[in-house]
Amino acid sequence: MVEIDGSAGEGGGQIVRTSIALAMLTGSAITIHDIRARRSNPGLRAQHLAAIQASARICGAHFDGATIASRHLRFFPGPVRAGRYEIDVGTAGSTLLVLQTVLPALSFCTCASELLLRGGTHNPRAPTFEFINDAYLPLLRRLGYGARAALERHGFYPRGGGLVRVSIAPFQRGIPLDLTERGSLHSCTARVLLSRIPLDIGQREIAVLRARLNIPDSACSIEAVVASSAGNTVQVRVNCAHVHLAFCGFGSRGVPAEIVAGGVASEVEQYLKTDVAVDVHLADQLLVPLALAAGGRFTTVKPSAHTITNAEVIKNLLPIRIDVRDLGSERWLLEVWPRAAEKSIR
Ligand code: ATP
Repeated sequence: MVEIDGSAGEGGGQIVRTSIALAMLTGSAITIHDIRARRSNPGLRAQHLAAIQASARICGAHFDGATIASRHLRFFPGPVRAGRYEIDVGTAGSTLLVLQTVLPALSFCTCASELLLRGGTHNPRAPTFEFINDAYLPLLRRLGYGARAALERHGFYPRGGGLVRVSIAPFQRGIPLDLTERGSLHSCTARVLLSRIPLDIGQREIAVLRARLNIPDSACSIEAVVASSAGNTVQVRVNCAHVHLAFCGFGSRGVPAEIVAGGVASEVEQYLKTDVAVDVHLADQLLVPLALAAGGRFTTVKPSAHTITNAEVIKNLLPIRIDVRDLGSERWLLEVWPRAAEKSIR
């Protein structure tokens, strides 16, 4: 039984997701205590429960402690079974974070799987569908993973109700990731999504992005989408020669459109000012896929508490090395060496 401290470092839900994802793959039973101890609402929330329950179905696990607000979980995995799974978060909790929990184990099955995930697709403080589809999955495919996603319905807070379909082909042995340079900037595109929000909000947001980021009109779009709740996202995709990045801001009642779009523009400007390939969010999310594949390295900004904590959790469950090197000039190199990891993967 591997013991995991849920209050370590960042002390958030990612500790639970990473631990479960790796427990499924290694077959190790885990116990997590002090779950999300560093959050104002500690213990498990709906999104974490959905991830635990879905993982348990996929690997026939026994578990206890999986209730809302529970701070202690024990999870005893069984064999992972590929198949078609419908997973309903039940709230607007992030479907994409649930996906990140079950994707690794299903990728290492010999048969393909299909997932239908219901819940939030565009959540603040979580990867959006576009982040997963445009930035995260293309890098995973480079590593040998075979997942593709399609957005069938948008899901915004508070109702959720979004639908994401994911097909997962068996992992093909890939080559290590070498992403130290992002390459030249090819283009930026801007996209505003509006559900039950007036069009002029989107027009004001696009005006800010055009002015701040010099995005041509032909690379800007405003889309009215159908969802169960009102919603507004402001998204910028940055297309570099070696990597694509996705940045997103969320409209919120009482916050002017200019502030929402200005926040996204600042994030993009900040990224473009650096000389790194991977943004701060992608950095923590790449560690598990890298650790299970052939490893590799990438440059990024100063590692966040999420990145450092995730690396520690992974090292607890897999015999791997993760090196974090300060290259100076606000450039960091993360290297993942999964030398003996294969022995522990079933
Ligand atoms: P909580 O923080 O309430 O515990 P949680 O379960 O969502 O909730 P976290 O541990 O905070 O867990 O993990 C959030 C994940 O979402 C991290 O992987 C982080 O990189 C990612 N994330 C946060 N903001 C963004 C963003 N703007 N774009 C992409 N990914 C993001």
